[in-house]
Amino acid sequence: MGGVVQDNFLNTAVRLDTKRSAESLLTFIHQIEQQQHRHRFIHWGPRTLDLDIIFYGDVQMQTETLTIPHPEAKNRRFVLTPIAELATDTESVSQQVQAWLAVTPDQTKIIKLV
Ligand code: AMP
Repeated sequence: MGGVVQDNFLNTAVRLDTKRSAESLLTFIHQIEQQQHRHRFIHWGPRTLDLDIIFYGDVQMQTETLTIPHPEAKNRRFVLTPIAELATDTESVSQQVQAWLAVTPDQTKIIKLV
């Protein structure tokens, strides 16, 4: 993404229940990234790990540190495709993802590995 030439990378989507607020979840995923010794030297370039919050239920929010739904999700078929599979029983998310999949400029072929 972002025009930086880099190796292939693995993408995974996870759906979870949490008692954390969205901000607290962001802090938590940053801690995990640090624990995994994440390094990044170029914006949008290769990194050892990148965790993002794509949806938080049907919440829409924008603060200095957090935008939900994730603002780049609609431009990334590799983000939308697995979420479409995970969110079939969550109408607001499912509808939004299907709408974005129909118009996303990203025509990359997505291959499901597992
Ligand atoms: P990243 O490049 O994915 O590591 O994200 C860099 C910054 O984007 C983070 O430090 C967050 O403050 C901000 N950000 C805004 N919205 C989100 C989101 N939905 N999920 C993750 N990070 C976000």
